[in-house]
Amino acid sequence: MEADVREREIQGQLLECDVVYGATDNHASRSMLTELSARGHLPLIDVGVRAGVRETGELDALYVERRLQIPDGPCLWCWGVLDAERVRLELMPAFEREALAAEGYVAGIDAAPEPTIAPLTVTAAGLATTTLLGLLGGGLEVGPLRAGFESLRVESIAYADEPDPDCICRRWRPA
Ligand SMILES: [Zn+2]
Repeated sequence: MEADVREREIQGQLLECDVVYGATDNHASRSMLTELSARGHLPLIDVGVRAGVRETGELDALYVERRLQIPDGPCLWCWGVLDAERVRLELMPAFEREALAAEGYVAGIDAAPEPTIAPLTVTAAGLATTTLLGLLGGGLEVGPLRAGFESLRVESIAYADEPDPDCICRRWRPA
């Protein structure tokens, strides 16, 4: 089934799930999922990939990351994964965004996926699946919650697992 996570009916269906995979490629739908996860005590497995390119155009790094949002852990906003301006631009009607792009204000929002990203998405899907196996096999004893690696040098990257006390998710979480 293909549907938009911004629709209330779809959100209701997601809240009935035990865990949600976030494989979306934009900030607006990710922000919806992270809010839904926090409000609904719904574990969210989110993955992201990114290519680092030098100013001279050479490929410098290929990052893969998975984030597991659990009820008492950080949300995607806590971790700084999401960008509010990007969410605003993505939710803007296409004609307004195109007008901004024509004026040079917006770059990359409607860009096609980079070919170099394809093998990373396969890796990310594997990471998401092993996270799900961890959840099923050991409750919520999967950690660190946000982790990833740079796949050219195979260097791991870890992040803080504490929620940001000033994050908006404090208001979303049930008391
Ligand atoms: Zn948060």
